[in-house]
Amino acid sequence: MAAEGRPLSPPEVLQAAQKLVPRIGIATVYRNIKAMVEAGELVAVPLPGDRVYYELADKAVHHHHHFRCNQCEKVFDIHGCDDTFATLLPPGFVLTTHDVTLYGLCAACSAAARVRPGKKR
Ligand SMILES: [Zn+2]
Ligand SMILES: [Zn+2]
Repeated sequence: MAAEGRPLSPPEVLQAAQKLVPRIGIATVYRNIKAMVEAGELVAVPLPGDRVYYELADKAVHHHHHFRCNQCEKVFDIHGCDDTFATLLPPGFVLTTHDVTLYGLCAACSAAARVRPGKKR
């Protein structure tokens, strides 16, 4: 995950791990992820209605959000936060936290979409 610089889903971890250890299986990946979560090295990135992605715990302590590409399903870190949500609340409401995920096309997928103009999105 440090090498990729973004949160990874277990199948993506498997793909990366298989470059180093060709015979590694998904069960091993899940077992190691679970152990690393218990050790406090990884945290789950909860995306509503989606598979679970994981990121390094030392990244997760800094407030940030995620962007999920609709095409390749990769998840990227978004830095910075437009923290004006409190102004959206009705009078008397108190905001304690927010959970924002952005969706769209990553740079690679939007570039690929541009060279195939016939494809509707
Ligand atoms: Zn993409
Ligand atoms: Zn935020």
